[in-house]
Amino acid sequence: MEEPWYNKYKQYRRAKWGKDFKLWKILFDGFLVGAKSEPYDPFMEMVLDMFVDVGNARIKEKPIVMHPFNYGPELFHAMDLEPLMQEVFSVGLAPMHANEFYIDLTNQIGYGDNPTLCNAQRPLIGAFENGIAPIPDIIFFLSTPCNSIATTYQVFQYLTGVPQFNIDIPYWDYNDPNSEFFDEKTLDYILNQLKYFISWLEQQTNRKLDEEKFKQTMIWVNQARENISEFNELLKTVPCPVNSLEPMKNFLTMVTRGGTEVGVKATKLIRDNAANNVKNGVAGVPGENIRIAWPYTHVFFDRELFPWLEETYKASIIMDLLGFYPVQPHDTSTIEKCFESLAKGTLDFSMIGTCRGPAEYYVDYVMRWVKDYKIDCVIIPIQFACKHAYSITRLIAESVRQETGVPSLIIACDPYDSREVTSETIRGKIGEFLTEVVM
Ligand code: SF4
Repeated sequence: MEEPWYNKYKQYRRAKWGKDFKLWKILFDGFLVGAKSEPYDPFMEMVLDMFVDVGNARIKEKPIVMHPFNYGPELFHAMDLEPLMQEVFSVGLAPMHANEFYIDLTNQIGYGDNPTLCNAQRPLIGAFENGIAPIPDIIFFLSTPCNSIATTYQVFQYLTGVPQFNIDIPYWDYNDPNSEFFDEKTLDYILNQLKYFISWLEQQTNRKLDEEKFKQTMIWVNQARENISEFNELLKTVPCPVNSLEPMKNFLTMVTRGGTEVGVKATKLIRDNAANNVKNGVAGVPGENIRIAWPYTHVFFDRELFPWLEETYKASIIMDLLGFYPVQPHDTSTIEKCFESLAKGTLDFSMIGTCRGPAEYYVDYVMRWVKDYKIDCVIIPIQFACKHAYSITRLIAESVRQETGVPSLIIACDPYDSREVTSETIRGKIGEFLTEVVM
C-alpha cells in the first residue's frame, strides 16, 4: 500500500530548529494532524512545505525575513532569502484560541490594549517574551495598511534586536491620470524605495540580486496573478462555482509563495477547479440563496463561521477582503518592467490598495464588488483597533445602500479574540440580519 502523502513531514517533528521555533512547530503539528484525516491536497502540501522551509532555513543559515501579511514575498524568493509571513504565526494560533494566552501576556507586559492596537500582531510580543516565537534575521514592514502594524513591528525589532527596514507607502493614485487623486510621482516614489531596500538587503545578507533570477520570479508572480484574475472573473457566475473558503487559498499562496513555480501551480489548480465547476454547473454552495461581500478579514477565531453560513442560510461569501486578491498581471518583458511590476504589486496588494489613500479607494472597491458580483448584502466584522477601516465602514455601508439598495451589517467584534464578542453573538447578529433584512 502507498505511504500516506503526509508521512514525509513526520521527521520534521523532531527537527532541531531551535527553542524559539517551539510554537511554530506546534502550529506545524496542528496542520499535520489536520492533513491526516484528509485526502492528498496540494494546497495543504504547500502550507506544510512553508512551515518546513522556514524551520530548515535556520539550520541551513539561510536568512529569514519576517514581513507582515500585506506584502508579497517575491523579492525575498528572488534573493534566496526565506520569507516568514508573521501573521501565519500570530493569527494562525487564533482558530485554536491559542493566541489568547499570549494576548493576555502582552497586556500584562503593558503593551497596548485591544481598543488601540490590533490583536493580529500583539500575541507575538508575549510569545517573544516567553522565548518561543521564531526570531528572524531581518524584519521588514510597510507604513500601510495600519498604524498598528507600523508601531508593533517596531516593538518586534526592539525585542529581537535584528536589523529592520520599512517602506513608506504613498497616498496617491499612480494609474489613472484623469483621477483627482493622481500624482505622477507615486510610482517612482515606491520604486526608488524598493531599489534602496534591495541594496540594503544585499549589504545585510551578502547576497546579490541576480537579475535573471529576479526576472523569472516576476514572470512567475505575474502568471499567478493572471490565474487569480481569471478566478476572480469566474466568481461572477451565479451560483458561485466555489465554496466561501476557496479565495483565501489564493491570498495565502501569494503572501507565502508569490514569485515561485509552486505559486503558479497552486493558483492554476484553484482557477481550473472554478472553471470546471462553471462548465459543469456545479455550485460551491448547492442551492445558493444569498451572495455576500465580506470586505474585511475572516473572524479568525471561528473557522466554522463560513461553513455554518453556507449550511444554515445557503449563503455564499463571494470573497473576503484578503481573498479578493486584486493585483493585475503586468508586463515583464524588460528588467525595468519587472521592477515596475514589483512596485505596482506593492501598491495594489490585498488591503494596501484599499487602505493607503482617501476613503474613495475603499468605497469604490466595495461598490464595484457589489455591482460586478451580484451581491445581496455586505457584512463587515470589525474591531476599533483597525481605526483607518473602522472609521469608513459607515460611509461604505451608506454609499452602497444609496447607490445600489444593498444593505450592510457592521458587527463590532475582535476577529482575533473570541472573548470580546463571542461566536454565538456574531452568528446571532448575522442570522437576524439575513432573515429579517436580506431575505
Ligand atoms: S486588521 Fe486592521 S489593524 Fe489589524 S493588522 Fe489588519 S489592517 Fe492592521
